[in-house]
Amino acid sequence: MSALAAAGMPAFRPAERIASVGVSEILKITARAGALKRAGRPMIILGAGEPDFDTPDNVKEAAIRAIRDGATKYTALDGSPELKDAVRAKFERENGLVFAADEVTCGAGAKQILYNAFMATLGPGDEVVIPTPYWTSYSDIVAIAGGTPVLVPCGIEAGFRLRPEQLEAAITPRTRWLLLNSPSNPSGAAYSAEELEALAGVLRRHTHVWAMSDDMYEHILYDGLAFATLAAVAPDLRDRTLTVNGVSKAYAMTGWRIGYGGGPAVLIRAMAVVQSQATSCPSSVSQAAAVEALNGPQAIVAERCAAFQRRRDLVVAGLNAVPGLQCPVPQGAFYTFASCEGLLGARTPDGGVLRSDRDVADYLLEADVAVVPGACFGLEPFFRISYATSDSELKTALERIEAACARLHHA
Ligand code: PMP
Repeated sequence: MSALAAAGMPAFRPAERIASVGVSEILKITARAGALKRAGRPMIILGAGEPDFDTPDNVKEAAIRAIRDGATKYTALDGSPELKDAVRAKFERENGLVFAADEVTCGAGAKQILYNAFMATLGPGDEVVIPTPYWTSYSDIVAIAGGTPVLVPCGIEAGFRLRPEQLEAAITPRTRWLLLNSPSNPSGAAYSAEELEALAGVLRRHTHVWAMSDDMYEHILYDGLAFATLAAVAPDLRDRTLTVNGVSKAYAMTGWRIGYGGGPAVLIRAMAVVQSQATSCPSSVSQAAAVEALNGPQAIVAERCAAFQRRRDLVVAGLNAVPGLQCPVPQGAFYTFASCEGLLGARTPDGGVLRSDRDVADYLLEADVAVVPGACFGLEPFFRISYATSDSELKTALERIEAACARLHHA
């Protein structure tokens, strides 16, 4: 008998579908670092996956106007006609993808779009091929939906990118989806059109496999690289590709919770069934704000990307100056994913030994810098830094990392 039952309290039994899924480890690390900061430590938290910039004023004003004009009621299930039109115009303008109204869907963040798609398509035994390192939520959403994540390691030597022969080897009769994310959270790696075309070649041989392209970081791409997305590169795969995007990262709108997707109408309809029984529709006010973000002036997007690129250069140079760390240059997003293999086995000043990237992250936390271990993204030994914070905080954090690593004793 459990202690609760013995005390006469009702026992709680969670559903099996969440048994293998925990609350995001990134959130836990961020919470721990936040608690230390509140306790007075000068903690610099490089964990958050959101821009430090503010939502643009024109977007805020549009939301205020929407409230005043009474746009405060339920909207159409998967997006107001105005938002769907803005999404369709965006896909056509920026990606060359033409979608009909019944081929686009809007939800409470790109996360809900992914969730709807997996809930609408996966059953026991269905597999989703996920290049690794991957955004932590992918495997958890697949698991909640009853499917099986198939993690394919894409190491530092491959630029954290999936190669066609790896995809070929990962596909089985039970594969339902390939999930691509470019630029990637956590590695910042981006696929060129040629690389996507090579993956498309594999998908053409396996007609039962659909593709999901998570384009959240489309607008945070550096060095003049051209953004490429699978459905545009391989139009013949459009009838089995879902292109996912949102306003969170491009317009610093993480809290507004609007994401969207474009794909075949049969899939979009099935996704609407999931959403209808979960949230009915995304927030009406946020939808009005997203319409302005997508249709309004776009200059701020490139300005902010330039600021992120400066910070990327600062962080990459700072990390590579530390013996034991190796940080490839990310092509996009606002993360570095550095190898800390050269630190493993080292002894800390208090006599401990760094045996894993979790140990490295714990050690850096003691030096008042919070980073996320690669284990959270399925690839070790690495750690992720989110550089969506001010230059001065980044400089201080880099100094602390360098000083902490200099205190280690190597065997
Ligand atoms: N995809 C990726 C790769 C992400 O990093 C995130 C946010 N961390 C999302 C999707 C979800 O974004 P949102 O739900 O805020 O639109």
